[in-house]
Amino acid sequence: MPKLFYIACSSYSGSTLLSFLLNTHEEICTVGHMVGWPEGNDENFLCSCGEPLKSCPFFGAIRDAFRDARLPFDYSDFGTKYELVRNDRLNRYLNAGLPLIHSNRAESLRDAVVSRMPGFAGTLARFDRANLTFVNTALAHSGARVFVDNSHSPHRVRHLSRIPELDIAAAHLVRDLRGVVLSDINRRGWDAEFSTRMWLREQSDVARVLGGRDKAITIYYEQLCEATDETLATLHRLVGLEPQPFPGDFKATDHHILGNAMRLRDSKISADRRWERDLSQQDLATITRVAESFVRRDPDHPVSRMVEHYFSS
Ligand SMILES: [Zn+2]
Repeated sequence: MPKLFYIACSSYSGSTLLSFLLNTHEEICTVGHMVGWPEGNDENFLCSCGEPLKSCPFFGAIRDAFRDARLPFDYSDFGTKYELVRNDRLNRYLNAGLPLIHSNRAESLRDAVVSRMPGFAGTLARFDRANLTFVNTALAHSGARVFVDNSHSPHRVRHLSRIPELDIAAAHLVRDLRGVVLSDINRRGWDAEFSTRMWLREQSDVARVLGGRDKAITIYYEQLCEATDETLATLHRLVGLEPQPFPGDFKATDHHILGNAMRLRDSKISADRRWERDLSQQDLATITRVAESFVRRDPDHPVSRMVEHYFSS
């Protein structure tokens, strides 16, 4: 049975680094984000192997497999995303996290209702088939046994878990929220308060969805950078592989990874701590205030332990 290892996290949490590190294991294959890439149809957009995405032989094999299976395929949208309708908000109600409710039971009930609605049942079955075709083709092409899906959203795990042919394990990758907030400020134009609240909500969603699973683990980005081989060994064992240390060079292994800008840089691993220098005192105070008030409200929440991990040291 093909194994799928899912990485759930907020953006800017180091998941592209983790994808590259996992990909160096000879039994592991990943493409990073598994739902397509917005600039995928741009002739100049490069796969991490150095070829334009549209000429990459690996993605060419996926495209051909989709064609043979009569599945739609596009480089900006592989047809693997569980998106029932084009409207983001409606899609969320139908398919992802229910706003305000935050309950696994309510979401399972909703999933059961949606899966029986005329029109949606067939679409969901097609998404399942597209995901399985993608994973099987990637594994066959690379000769690996474990496929890593770094698509971030925890709700995707719920959907993939319906596919009986997949054996799924998952990691919640957590990075110091001050680092995430700095990236949100610089790249998304968010303010510190909004970004902190989003981080808390996203970690809560991941913790809730992965909470009931047997093969799930929480790992910290900073530990991955500072104790790389030990962290990798834990993940390798979780998916039933013999641990292999990082060989010291990402480029030694064949890779076709879609992710953010770090993906084409060198192989040196050091935790990005620019927030220590670049966050203003005011933003630091805001982040601390919002995060500590979360912990005071709900000290036993799994996310409170993550906040304390960063703020008590
Ligand atoms: Zn490639």
